[in-house]
Amino acid sequence: MFKPLMLFFSSAVLLQTGVMAQQGAELPSSAGASYVIRAGKLIDPETGVATANQTIAVKDGKIVAIGANVTAPSGAETIDLSNYSVLPGLVDAHNHLALTYKKVPENDVYYYTYIGDSTALRAIQAASNGMQMLSYGFTVVRDLGNNGLYADSAQRIAIEQGWIPGPTMINSGIIIGASGGQFAPTPEMAKQHNIVYPEYIEADTRDELVKAVRENILFGAKVIKICVDCQAYPYTVDDMKFVVKEAANAGMKVAGHVQTQEGARRAIEAGIWSIEHSVALTNELHKMMAQKGIWRVGTETPFTEYSGSKEEFDRTVAGMKSAYANGVKMAFSTDADYYVPGMTRGQVVINFLKSWKASGIPDKEVLKIMTTNGYKVVDIYDKRGPLKAGFPADMIAVKGNPLENIDALRSVVFVMKDGLVFKRDGVMTPEKFLHGGPVNGWDIH
Ligand SMILES: [Zn+2]
Repeated sequence: MFKPLMLFFSSAVLLQTGVMAQQGAELPSSAGASYVIRAGKLIDPETGVATANQTIAVKDGKIVAIGANVTAPSGAETIDLSNYSVLPGLVDAHNHLALTYKKVPENDVYYYTYIGDSTALRAIQAASNGMQMLSYGFTVVRDLGNNGLYADSAQRIAIEQGWIPGPTMINSGIIIGASGGQFAPTPEMAKQHNIVYPEYIEADTRDELVKAVRENILFGAKVIKICVDCQAYPYTVDDMKFVVKEAANAGMKVAGHVQTQEGARRAIEAGIWSIEHSVALTNELHKMMAQKGIWRVGTETPFTEYSGSKEEFDRTVAGMKSAYANGVKMAFSTDADYYVPGMTRGQVVINFLKSWKASGIPDKEVLKIMTTNGYKVVDIYDKRGPLKAGFPADMIAVKGNPLENIDALRSVVFVMKDGLVFKRDGVMTPEKFLHGGPVNGWDIH
């Protein structure tokens, strides 16, 4: 039964593509679209070099050539960015697109958001948040859980199949934690698993850990997230080694939410891929992380009129200085999961530049952290991110030079994602991304 069905679908797709090609007006996806982009400056964040007057040729969603003298693909549309700097897209290595807690009605207590907002509603919120992120230049988001019953997988799949525009997502599915997850549930909640429980998979034993990892992968996770020390019974080094091995069996990395020094020490010893949040990280722990090459996904919240306190912020900034001085691998990350009236998710996220500026880390390095390091920590560096021939055409343009002034990233005027223009002259133009069917393939999961 399976094979004839496949054939049926394949021929239907061919037929549809043929019809589209004949009509020639609407593009079914980035297939067939070609552009020549004239960049006033082309920024390579990895080397910190800006090269003047470069051209990028894009075809069928991919970069086909970059340089001073590039042959345009036939029929290519020219995009003039000669007054701008063109650079690879930005990465937020820790976000929660399908969670938005609010002052009203839940007084910013996200426990209540889980009760008030269904997974379905949250998936739609995520679709919007994803576009808001893309508009601010974030072409990649690692989404680390608290997304109801796999709203994150639904969003990733919808983007990849070609239903909606959005960043490339590396999502964790449901966070795995010891009994209780990250919460202090009432016995009524914990025993019946009816309320707040889509947010965590409880896994205490080895059997439960294997099952939890596999279930997440089955339902669309691309990275495994565990809560290392959310309860009085943190995971042991052996527990975490076991999870790292089980995730590796499916080619995946493990991100660990860490909130205590003991948890951090254990996670480092277990060889976890990344430590999420920086509250527990000391100078000594930074040295250990640097030695073992463990990523610091610090989620460094700025002190603003809507977030944080001066004392907290001073500690955050001191931690960033310590990590940088010790040569720890750092990523730009936000833990953005809340609504600030008057701001989009993209604006909330880009405002984390305040923390990076306060850290004194040179702008050039911050740009590398937001791009090159981002592709590495989300584990896509060898297939997406850097601007080079053969890679997906994801890029942004800004006024000024972010290597010299990182605040240039605050006003992204142009965004291309997978070879299609999402934002132009500062205005979102998502039309080419919207389709009445899964144009990139119904079988993408
Ligand atoms: Zn988080």
